[in-house]
Amino acid sequence: MDIPRIFNITESAHRIHNPITPEKLATLGAALRLESGTRVLDLGSGSGEMLCTWARDYGVIATGIDLSQLFTEQAKLRAEELGVADQVRFIHGDAAVYVADEKAGVAAFLGATWIGGGVAGTVDLLVQSLRPGGIILSGEPYWQQLPPTEDVVKGCLAHSISDFLTLPELLASFGHLGYDVVEMVLADQDGWDRYEAAKWLTMRRWLEANPGDELAKEVRAQLTSEPGRYAAYTREYLGWGVFALMPRR
Ligand code: SAH
Repeated sequence: MDIPRIFNITESAHRIHNPITPEKLATLGAALRLESGTRVLDLGSGSGEMLCTWARDYGVIATGIDLSQLFTEQAKLRAEELGVADQVRFIHGDAAVYVADEKAGVAAFLGATWIGGGVAGTVDLLVQSLRPGGIILSGEPYWQQLPPTEDVVKGCLAHSISDFLTLPELLASFGHLGYDVVEMVLADQDGWDRYEAAKWLTMRRWLEANPGDELAKEVRAQLTSEPGRYAAYTREYLGWGVFALMPRR
């Protein structure tokens, strides 16, 4: 049970598998006014950077679940490195079926929306693990600029323009689901560069170490085309942000 191997290759050196930076993760933690002892649940926790740094900086108690064995191992090592292994727990598994025994004050899915089959389904899943007054965090892409042509849609690796909303539409969509948006921290192009450009050096080094691998051709092709594709499309047209939601009552 794991994610497609290509991601374990291209993102093996990432601490954060999204366009958000360490500084912005800290900003987010501060914006949420996290208190020591707050329970945080993270579905698709990747290499655990958010939970480990929040445990260190804000004293949260956290659980992360991720389908990548590699990322989960890296998350456990990071917890040791930051001295928070007694505060954070990382589980290798499918987050789609996970409901916490102890309700969380913050429940997150950052760039892992497919876990519950879309935003609505993932929010429904997380709310089952949320204590009253708790906050859900949704990390989502949106159209920074509407794509003028079908080529731009495809260049952003979207199937159709309807794959994403504009920022005002995305904020409104949370309202339609019955949630107040109570905070947000948005990524910027530097953050996108850290996420996307970091894959290139990883791919280059992996190719040198694994020339005969069955995925070598695919990785070679990506390394050749990705910088140009990314600069022309994703970097210009896609935004990304973390949105803090509370159920309306
Ligand atoms: N939230 C992390 C990782 C985002 S990338 C961060 O911001 O760094 C998306 C993550 O979802 C990957 O780590 C991938 O392994 C994980 N994932 C994909 N499907 C999953 C599933 N069904 N259950 C748990 N994790 C899943």
